[in-house]
Amino acid sequence: MVDCDVIIVGGGPVGLFLAAELGQRGISVEVFDAKPGTSTHPAANANSARTMEHFRRIGIAATVRSLGLPRDYAPDVAYFTSIAGHELARLAQPASGDAVAWAKAHAFTWATPEPPHRCSQLYVEPVLLDAARRHANCSVHFGARVLGFTQSGEGVSATVELDATADRTAQTRTVKARYLVGCDGPRSMVRKSLGVAYEGMAGEKRDFMGGQMDAVYFYAPDIYRVSPHAPAWQYWTFSAKQRALVIAVDGEGHFIMNVQTRDGESPDEADFKRRIAEAIGADIPFEVKSSSRWTAGFSLVAEKFSVGRVFLAGDSAHLFTPTGGLGYNTGIDDAANLAWKLEALVKGMAGEALGASYDAERRPAALRNTAFARGFADSIGHLQVPVAAYGTDAAGAAARAAVGDYLKFHATAEFVIPGVHLGTRYESSPLHHAEPGAAAPDTANLYVPCARPGHRAPHAWLADGVSLFDTFGQGFTLLCIGEAGVDVERDDAYQRAAAALPGLTLARTGEGSVAALYKAAFVLIRPDQHVAWRGNALNVEFDAAVQRTLGHRVEEEGALPWQAHPSAA
Ligand SMILES: Cc1cc2nc3c(=O)[nH]c(=O)nc-3n(C[C@H](O)[C@H](O)[C@H](O)COP(=O)(O)OP(=O)(O)OC[C@H]3O[C@@H](n4cnc5c(N)ncnc54)[C@H](O)[C@@H]3O)c2cc1C
Repeated sequence: MVDCDVIIVGGGPVGLFLAAELGQRGISVEVFDAKPGTSTHPAANANSARTMEHFRRIGIAATVRSLGLPRDYAPDVAYFTSIAGHELARLAQPASGDAVAWAKAHAFTWATPEPPHRCSQLYVEPVLLDAARRHANCSVHFGARVLGFTQSGEGVSATVELDATADRTAQTRTVKARYLVGCDGPRSMVRKSLGVAYEGMAGEKRDFMGGQMDAVYFYAPDIYRVSPHAPAWQYWTFSAKQRALVIAVDGEGHFIMNVQTRDGESPDEADFKRRIAEAIGADIPFEVKSSSRWTAGFSLVAEKFSVGRVFLAGDSAHLFTPTGGLGYNTGIDDAANLAWKLEALVKGMAGEALGASYDAERRPAALRNTAFARGFADSIGHLQVPVAAYGTDAAGAAARAAVGDYLKFHATAEFVIPGVHLGTRYESSPLHHAEPGAAAPDTANLYVPCARPGHRAPHAWLADGVSLFDTFGQGFTLLCIGEAGVDVERDDAYQRAAAALPGLTLARTGEGSVAALYKAAFVLIRPDQHVAWRGNALNVEFDAAVQRTLGHRVEEEGALPWQAHPSAA
């Protein structure tokens, strides 16, 4: 007898998103988080296009896009000697009110209905909490620390310590479930209990973004008055004394400043104030609200993402240096990959390989993304600004222009990254047969749409202005292109697929733009919008693909029970 299908340890953004996804799929979930509520201190500030696509799928993208900076505040990335001093370079970006229309006009770069959205985790977490709690089968408990767990062939059992509240004393509860997911951050009790280690690079040193960092949350509305420049989202400051990254949180005066400190140094509030004043470069009042310490210089990925009935997602599975804004976003993509697999496992539709496919698909994705983040950190973290750049003469202006040229190049390289956001692919997944031929290049700054099995399904805007993705279902989708969809419901292979796949949706389109992207008459698309299979007939290969995508073992010859059927010819 279980209390719920899935226990989630950790109600940060990844745990909450996973809970919302599972709740929507009818899976019962209990989330436990040791904190008293959602975060009160900003951390991640960037929602990738892929994260926003997932948010669109669960119906919260518009709400998230309305949060953060005002809708007419351009989230530019800009570089200065100080905020009130010289501007060195600027990457202009569309304000959130214009971003979707802008992406439509720039589909050659951002081939997505949901371009990136710059908004703090501080604001996103309550939306995710609400999305999770909207489902009656989903309970989220704060002030609840998971002390440990055991697993057997049948299920998992976790011990949870619930904090004292006004109406009860502290207590311990045992919770039983079929599966447990550790979304419990970088110090993950779940990962350590499984005996799984992080692998990769730790403690890389750089002048910036490589070492001990302090994130200081402060209020300084006068910044907009003393800065002679247009407002920005990220203000990277390179003064003669220090570097700082100051990020606008709400566009109304709240900022978070990240500064590097020497290892072992413990700055106090007076130090923080001195450093904020140095970054601003003008004498204005400000109020420090909170601070937190973190370390830059990690590119770590867990050696395994699952053991038996226990899975790891988010920072518990990988730890990034935040350049490129990929840590939290990779975690959201983990959860999207895991949710439909847990659904199939809980509903008894999964084959033996489905659970293990999570590690096979997501571990390479984490290695890929940590490598991109590391490259961005090297590009900005090792930059040496020449002393001449602080001069007031013509040589100073020339030195600033030269540094600015590099920074402009760097900003595009780090922040215009549709390839990173949209190009994640599971080429060597056990859930499909790799197609012959070469996949599209996997580069940071260019996304080349590719409908090979394992790739994110390419997006198109349909002639009536609807996003192709909005025609897909919450479960699997069979996309029928051109004449292929006529009478498909009467096809036996289709009916077998509908019986095997949770919530199969039929999407039909006759649009040439979609045909050109997918290059097949039929495309089977997974609930996480990755391509499972494409082909020109619902034949024996389709039957096999349906089984394989759920992790069932498929004999290469003669083993499918329906293979003798005429439609298999
Ligand atoms: C300064 C900074 C800037 C960043 N900027 C970006 C960015 O721009 N883009 C980006 O993608 N990422 C960024 N990141 C990283 C991002 O914040 C994390 O990747 C993200 O929070 C990970 O989410 P998570 O849900 O996996 O883990 P967390 O947010 O760490 O949540 C884990 C949760 O588990 C709970 N928990 C832990 N142990 C237990 C237990 N035993 N029982 C119950 N609960 C437990 C904790 O209370 C916590 O709420 C940044 C990080 C920092 C520090």
